[in-house]
Amino acid sequence: KKLGIALVGLGGYAGGQLAPALQETKHCYLAGIVTGTPSKADEWSKKYNIPGKNIYNYQNFDEIAKNKDIDIVYVVLPVSMHMEYTIRAAKAGKHVICEKPMALNAADCVEMIAACKKANRLLSIGYRLHFEPHTQEIMRLGREKVYGKVTGVDTANGFKYNGDPNAWRLKKALAGGGALMDMGVYSIQGSRYSTGLEPLYVKATEQKTNNDLFKEVDETIFWDLEFPGGLMTKGKSSYNNNWGYLNVTAEKGQYGLKPAFSYGGIQGFTPQGAMNFPQINQQAFQMDDFAQCVLQKKQSRVSGEEGLRDMKVVDAIYRSIASGKKEKII
Ligand code: NAD
Repeated sequence: KKLGIALVGLGGYAGGQLAPALQETKHCYLAGIVTGTPSKADEWSKKYNIPGKNIYNYQNFDEIAKNKDIDIVYVVLPVSMHMEYTIRAAKAGKHVICEKPMALNAADCVEMIAACKKANRLLSIGYRLHFEPHTQEIMRLGREKVYGKVTGVDTANGFKYNGDPNAWRLKKALAGGGALMDMGVYSIQGSRYSTGLEPLYVKATEQKTNNDLFKEVDETIFWDLEFPGGLMTKGKSSYNNNWGYLNVTAEKGQYGLKPAFSYGGIQGFTPQGAMNFPQINQQAFQMDDFAQCVLQKKQSRVSGEEGLRDMKVVDAIYRSIASGKKEKII
């Protein structure tokens, strides 16, 4: 049986990536939508053959509890709405995928995990790269110490923001933060999955060149993570630089990814030369994996706990910028 997914929030990512990916999935399909815009409901209904009974708005969303076609709710909303819709979906008896960054802060992540546990529903985060072959190879090289122990990581993610100056991404109340929340989570993850370790401390600094556009949120942030055993890694995030790489230094050589975090076209290198792995539809693999987790009642590798670990680092980075000191990740 293919499980039914309902997308909540029909913006750029839902329309540009997730809905097309759901045409390729084997274990789940696009069964429903939740939108506040009636014209989008009509358009999506026609385009993806979604019956009227599977279309909800933000007012009647909780009625989704009665809908047997919907097994999984996928929250693709501005960050400030992730917690509310994840908890409402779990209370409606649905398993949940919530987009990254998981929530405004780690405390909200803890509440989301608890609500899903209480409702006996699985929670996963929209981390697509854990299903990407080059990225999986980076994880393996570190885990199996193929080139010896990892001694350093340098990673960056960002893009030059030239979109709507009034977009939710630039509003603190809606986004929680700027490029760190949106792009930096990938670099934080890169350091974590390259080393297979959890960081203990962070020291961060912020740089702002456009105080008008980035009045409420961070533009560029640099950070150093300290791992057990004294291993240090470097990360940075930006809304003013087109960055996207992951460089790993190990005892016997360097390897990495560039581009490292894009939807497609990821390339990897090792001391032996270029990696040779297929390009896949990351979102299709990610959603199929979660559907199988639901069918097999097993925790996703990109669980709510995984999202929480990254948000603890994000919280500590903001604390470090505020204090000017090294902060403990708690
Ligand atoms: P978007 O602005 O294109 O879409 C947001 C959607 O939320 C829109 O349909 C909008 O109508 C709706 N919405 C409902 N209430 C709103 C409100 N009060 N203010 C603004 N919009 C409201 O954004 P997006 O790029 O699709 O991002 C949505 C989520 O997906 C974010 O959490 C983002 O971080 C995540 N995302 C993840 C990836 C990934 O690679 N995993 C990529 C892009 C976006």
